[in-house]
Amino acid sequence: LLKVEGLVKSFRGQRVLDNVSFELKEGEVVSIFGKSGAGKSTLLRCINGLETIDEGNIKINGEYLYRQNENFIEGAKGETLKKIRQSIGYVFQSFNLFPNLTVLDNIILSPVKAYKLDKEKAVERAVKLLEKLNILDKKDCYPYELSGGQRQRVAIARACVLSPKIICFDEPTSAVDDEVKKSIADIILGFKKENMAVLIVSHDKEFSYSISDRIIKIEEGKIIS
Ligand code: ATP
Ligand code: MG
Repeated sequence: LLKVEGLVKSFRGQRVLDNVSFELKEGEVVSIFGKSGAGKSTLLRCINGLETIDEGNIKINGEYLYRQNENFIEGAKGETLKKIRQSIGYVFQSFNLFPNLTVLDNIILSPVKAYKLDKEKAVERAVKLLEKLNILDKKDCYPYELSGGQRQRVAIARACVLSPKIICFDEPTSAVDDEVKKSIADIILGFKKENMAVLIVSHDKEFSYSISDRIIKIEEGKIIS
């Protein structure tokens, strides 16, 4: 589902990602470990098209998000880009919920505005997800009215509403207690069962080892194992 080949990304001439290559297959859960500043979030941002890249290829669900040509990187555009964006979801480290929108509106904003999904349909999907995540009773609340773990589940619902094939988590257990941690593990294993691919950046070894098929270790922008 995801293929990263020879990815290079620099900020101000400094290589933050240095020739990174790996693949993610259907039904695979993979965790990325590495010290603070190793390049983990940058990698997720590149895969989600939130950063340009300097070298390499990123292929998502059969389409190139970035493709290395002779001497430039070609980025996906138009309908292809839209299709790619639908294939991949991203749960940010800080959740990035819109503070002025309710839980429900946070989830349906992009499907309705960017993907022209019928509002009723979007609400129906959102309600289903909130139910599954056990926070449907919070659907009309604003983010400030929620606990950290509840916000996290809203961010998960938002990342899932377009039924992506790949879902990326940046530090999914950073702000939660053991009970919520357990439910996030269950959610991730549920995605695995649905044959989605899950990519997790985490400092939480116990959590990651318990749910992952593989671990990728990154040091100074390079995969070391
Ligand atoms: P942490 O575990 O602390 O979240 P990380 O592995 O996610 O760390 P990144 O956020 O990917 O680290 O950052 C990797 C390096 O890239 C850091 O040295 C950071 O300062 C640098 N960096 C990240 N984003 C930018 C940016 N937009 N401009 C300049 N430098 C950046
Ligand atoms: Mg990070």
